[in-house]
Amino acid sequence: MVHKKMTVRKMAVLGLLMSATFTMVAQQPRKPDSAKPRNPRKVQTYRVTGSAAFGDSLKPDAIIAKALRNVSAERIRETDLKLVRFGTRHTMSAADEQAIKSGRGIGAAREWIRSEFERISKDCNDCLDVQTDEFTQPVSDRISKPTQIVNVYAIQRGTDPEQARRIFLVTGHYDSRNSDGMDTTKPAPGANDDASGTCVSLESARVLSKLKFPATIIYLTVAGEEQGLYGSGHFAKMAREKGWQIEGVLNNDIVGGNRTPGDKEQDAGIVRVFSEGIPSTATEKESHRLISLGYDHDGPSRQLARYTRVVARAYLPQSGAGRLTPKMIFRQDRFLRGGDHISFNEAGYPAVRFTEYREDFNHQHQTPRIDKGVEYGDLPKFVDFDYVANVARLNAATLASLAAAPAAPANVRMSVKELENVTQLAWDAVPGASGYEVLWRPTTSAEWENVESFGEVTRATLPHSKDNVIFGVRSVDRRGHKSLVVVPQPVQSLDAVASGVPTAHAFGAVGGESPSK
Ligand SMILES: [Zn+2]
Repeated sequence: MVHKKMTVRKMAVLGLLMSATFTMVAQQPRKPDSAKPRNPRKVQTYRVTGSAAFGDSLKPDAIIAKALRNVSAERIRETDLKLVRFGTRHTMSAADEQAIKSGRGIGAAREWIRSEFERISKDCNDCLDVQTDEFTQPVSDRISKPTQIVNVYAIQRGTDPEQARRIFLVTGHYDSRNSDGMDTTKPAPGANDDASGTCVSLESARVLSKLKFPATIIYLTVAGEEQGLYGSGHFAKMAREKGWQIEGVLNNDIVGGNRTPGDKEQDAGIVRVFSEGIPSTATEKESHRLISLGYDHDGPSRQLARYTRVVARAYLPQSGAGRLTPKMIFRQDRFLRGGDHISFNEAGYPAVRFTEYREDFNHQHQTPRIDKGVEYGDLPKFVDFDYVANVARLNAATLASLAAAPAAPANVRMSVKELENVTQLAWDAVPGASGYEVLWRPTTSAEWENVESFGEVTRATLPHSKDNVIFGVRSVDRRGHKSLVVVPQPVQSLDAVASGVPTAHAFGAVGGESPSK
């Protein structure tokens, strides 16, 4: 049912994956979600339901909800304190045998993270493949001598051979710095920036490795972030060269929920989620086209940001104590700052950044000290571990929801053949989907406001003018897992193949169009 071209392309990627790094273990293929075949070309017309706007939602999966209850603020605190005890995790700090033995410096931190992933893997019958991505960063901006940078990651391979090529990834950076970005010996605790994000990767691995997903999850921790996103840059480039089909990256950087005594502005109920609108990899021509279509807020990274909102509503309290709501910020990152999600965006992958609601710059990138009665330093006492645990729950729930769901519909298109006040949509079926949902929202709205469910069809006609709203389509399986949303490509004929559409596969980054090794 998948378009023939896509199948060939995807098989090429699968081949690449298998030969590159992924040695696929033969597993029981997951049963298709829909046993009886239905007519894929059936046209289903919108039925007026009476409730025009009911918002976007996700039905919680009891297995995922149960796993989230295993996220532990106490264990996260222990992990964070352990990382702080390495003294400094500066990218150029000591990493020789002696330093590793003494438990000080980035080498010791990296070895400990690796041993943690291995321990987690032992607890799930070796379900994780623990790997490192190592390289020597030559002298460059903020790197004064050739420096070995090591990214540590664990792969939880999907259980469905066909879906396992689809990857969702969570990351944090384990390197740290103090007031002097080139100081490699003095304390750089980095309890919030970014031991907190490292904790999210490790804790997500702990709770999700007990579950099985058709798609693949990668738990990543990188170094070299403070010196210029070097670790993530290398990893993203490697992923692209190997043709890895990464469909979503969650970068956690400064998710400690800083709690300076007396700070009344912090809000432990909010985590910011930054996302780019138009993909970084879009050419000038593509950018112009997306803007003219009104698609400047509908790139794949932004769809990922919207997805976190829906996940939060399904799995986390949205009011009262312990609530956590992602606050979407429609820009790639904060002013004057960057993060590892940018490396993934620039490699063509959808990626977002989570950061606490309000940062305290006295408690980031500061040598611990007291100056004129003000305490400086990125210390554990300013980290709210209940907050980090909530951010970890949001990450784990998002990863699990995406890895459990079918792929987003392929080749989503919208007829612009003639002037009409109805909207005709079409898409290609994807494996595992038992139905599709058409979503729409006013052009001025940040989130999908309307959803109409369709069965296992590949066309739909809706009585709304495409001039007035933005449409999207997603896949749903029988258990209610939902894919990311894809906006349709305008086409003259619905029988055409859409091209240049911003999908989960942003601009040829994945899906076999990446350069082969
Ligand atoms: Zn950081």
